[in-house]
Amino acid sequence: MEEKYGKVLTKIEEADGIVIGASNGLSISEGIHIFADNSAFRENFGDFREKYSIRSIIQGCSYSFPSEEEKWAFYSRMYEYFLYKNEASPVMKNLYELVKDKNFFVVTSNIDNHFRQAGFPKERLFEIEGNGRNLQCTNGCHHQIYPGDEILSEMAQNQENGKVPLNLIPRCPECDGLMQVHIEVNQNFLRDQSWQTSYQTYQDFIYKFRDEKLVFLELGVGARNQLIKAPFMKLTHVQEHATYITLNKGELYIPDVIAAKSIGIDGDTAEVLQQLVQFKKRELVCRQRTVFSTPETD
Ligand SMILES: [Zn+2]
Repeated sequence: MEEKYGKVLTKIEEADGIVIGASNGLSISEGIHIFADNSAFRENFGDFREKYSIRSIIQGCSYSFPSEEEKWAFYSRMYEYFLYKNEASPVMKNLYELVKDKNFFVVTSNIDNHFRQAGFPKERLFEIEGNGRNLQCTNGCHHQIYPGDEILSEMAQNQENGKVPLNLIPRCPECDGLMQVHIEVNQNFLRDQSWQTSYQTYQDFIYKFRDEKLVFLELGVGARNQLIKAPFMKLTHVQEHATYITLNKGELYIPDVIAAKSIGIDGDTAEVLQQLVQFKKRELVCRQRTVFSTPETD
């Protein structure tokens, strides 16, 4: 395993550009499993589970709640549970530590804002399926995306019997219609100007490094993922100097055609990232020792 870590670190160090792709598996390694009916779900969403037979956060996101009071009780609870955190998780901190000195770009289908919390700048981030801290007009009457922190937090604090008070429920400032969280849960999801800009920046980034050492670093993306994984593998195949690195627990998949340009690590992503960071620090220390102990030659 140490040899593999060494290879991954060398590829990252030598890279001209790094594209990080992340999906649900990365969240799971942080302890958030939006597809699971686990103890955390029962603890935080038990009342919704009982009342609507919702079995996971993701089911709640596509559930048709009977009223706006109940809908916003769910979304503000979700906000409080995993979108609003003062501090990034160790997983995200380690990931940032690994690439912070490199030229990188992040593409993710995670809606949890955790990249931003860890220090990844907005300009280098493409959240394909939106961000649960933002709001949009459900009718899509205009394409503005609104920061929802204040109202979501207020609704989270003021819910009673699974409902938020009517006066806190957000309305579209243009058409006075309903609003929703800006995540891709239905066909109303707005690909607004900032979404388009991020998409273009992502494309430009890949194009810019088409003839250079570009590393695709994929974290917790399922084997059949078409949104992130399929393009990563295809680009690795067609771009001569590209490398594909995939971290995944139990679902490692590397096609033969790119096997020679790929490194796969099957393991708990949280642990692997931690190991990589420790390995990197150790290497740095060794190198410094070597530099300091080299006798002057002139
Ligand atoms: Zn509207």
